[in-house]
Amino acid sequence: MRIRAVLWDVDDTLFDYSSADRAGVLGHLETEGLLAGFDSPEQALRAWRGVMEAQYARFLAGEIGFQEQRRARVRAFLGKPFPDAEADAWFGRYLGHFEAAWALFPDAVPALDALTPRYRHGVLSNSSVAMQQRKLRALGVRERFECLVCSDELGHAKPDPRAFLAACEELRLPPRQVAYVGDRPDVDARAADEAGLFGVWVDRTGAGGADGAGVRRIVGLRELTRILE
Ligand SMILES: [Mg+2]
Repeated sequence: MRIRAVLWDVDDTLFDYSSADRAGVLGHLETEGLLAGFDSPEQALRAWRGVMEAQYARFLAGEIGFQEQRRARVRAFLGKPFPDAEADAWFGRYLGHFEAAWALFPDAVPALDALTPRYRHGVLSNSSVAMQQRKLRALGVRERFECLVCSDELGHAKPDPRAFLAACEELRLPPRQVAYVGDRPDVDARAADEAGLFGVWVDRTGAGGADGAGVRRIVGLRELTRILE
């Protein structure tokens, strides 16, 4: 049975999260006078990402809310017990730099154009609906997607099959008629396959790797039309 819809991951699949985050945090730390405290920008970035991964995992596990993971990141990164308002203000200044660097990957809109109207489109993201709504609107592509399903409202995050099944239900399609495209071989492509969808890993580094063994792999979104046929 042919694929009728594509569900998309957002960060590092359609939206160049890593580049925007890098520009955002380095710009922010520079402005705050904190960058000089690190051996190199790369070291600062590693510290920021280490904290982000640890605290975001707590959000995805349902342990803390989306806003709380932001505050926890600020406190852990700076090693200071900031009150909420101060942590929010600090993170807000980071967001200013981050959002100034927001951009889609150059192949995102051409891929959506090439796949439409043969395929319907939706979004499934491990994030907050408010954040992704704002991001997709700012990037001018919100209207491309019939649904925007996020882990904060669902209560389930990828790789949990319930996240994928809920998004298919939003599209009113059985999982076997839905492809899922994401930048993580495990959390996106393999997990989608295991939930009964057609998982596709977009490996933008082109490096492959053991994590991606046995999953469908493309190195850019231009290849999607071919792989979905
Ligand atoms: Mg992603």
